[in-house]
Amino acid sequence: MRVLLLIIFTFSLFAQEEEKTVSHYQEAMAFKSSWVLYKNAPDNYASYRAFLKSAEKLEDSELKAGAYAYAALGAYLQGKVEYGTRTYNSLNELGQNIGDSKWLNFCSVDQFGDECSVCEGSAKNSRACKKCNGTKTCRNAECRKGQIIKLEKIDGNFEEVSTDCPVCEATGFCQTCGGSGIYKIPCNICRSFGYLLNKMKVREQFKSGLMGMNALVDAHLVEGFEKDQLAKGKIKRGDRYYTAAEIEKMDTAARLKNERTSQVQRRREEQKREQELRAKMDKKFKSLEDDSVLAPEKAKKVIENDFSNVADPVKKRYINTYLKQADLMIKAKEAENKGLELEAIKWLKEAQKLRDHEAIKEKIKKLKLESIGL
Ligand SMILES: [Zn+2]
Ligand SMILES: [Zn+2]
Ligand SMILES: [Zn+2]
Repeated sequence: MRVLLLIIFTFSLFAQEEEKTVSHYQEAMAFKSSWVLYKNAPDNYASYRAFLKSAEKLEDSELKAGAYAYAALGAYLQGKVEYGTRTYNSLNELGQNIGDSKWLNFCSVDQFGDECSVCEGSAKNSRACKKCNGTKTCRNAECRKGQIIKLEKIDGNFEEVSTDCPVCEATGFCQTCGGSGIYKIPCNICRSFGYLLNKMKVREQFKSGLMGMNALVDAHLVEGFEKDQLAKGKIKRGDRYYTAAEIEKMDTAARLKNERTSQVQRRREEQKREQELRAKMDKKFKSLEDDSVLAPEKAKKVIENDFSNVADPVKKRYINTYLKQADLMIKAKEAENKGLELEAIKWLKEAQKLRDHEAIKEKIKKLKLESIGL
């Protein structure tokens, strides 16, 4: 698995070198590759260095903060606490830009330490003072509690004369250890940190933040893709990106669909109104349907007498159709009476065009047969 990732990573590096302008998406992909390599081998120095390098290239963001925090953890895992501390300090400076201490807390080293049992966290160990051998007192052999007492002959008599000890400046204490009897040396067990790094704790922390960090890495990829799309002049709609031409096409299609829908709706409403009207038609009106074809003179009279002032537009349309049809039927009958079968057929066909009626069809058939002398 690691070998495969390494190959992919190397390949992506070559791909970057070849292309002069690297897209945001490709950059994000390269970062993801280094992250994947690193998270699988954080105690490997090479993958750690590569990851830190690509983290430094990121723009200031929560992702960069997370990457620094993770690089610090890797340094701890490799026992390079100084490196980790340096990265921690970089993150601290970054924090002022991104205003978040979450990742700073995530990688602060003190939470991973077990107190050093040798120096008990003081980072220093005590040794007995070599100058005074731990006696705490002045090394001057003549010094008695800071005073040097000598016998001097004054007026023939010996008298004790005391003077301040120059070595301890009359304090009586050892000057090297300040009278404590001990001196401190840096603790060589914890290398003056005062604690011993517990790598188990670091590893646990590493694992606990993986989901959050993976999400940031993937979000960075999406962002990179979006930036590239916008740079190409594409427009975001929903979750996808389109060219202006594509947007135009989609909008036109949607508008046409809307228009079709409203047309269909209008037609349906009209049909419904017609059905309602037909249901309400009185007998007289209904009988026009047949009369306009079978008894056109009668139909015309009824329309003139009873339906000349119709206001309803649908009803009016029906009346007009009946009236025209009645006229055509009369013309056909006159032609037929004159023996002009072909002319009669012509009028009948016009009447049939207006409104289909079984009787007209029959009549046309009959006239056709007559016209060829059958
Ligand atoms: Zn120590
Ligand atoms: Zn001393
Ligand atoms: Zn002294």
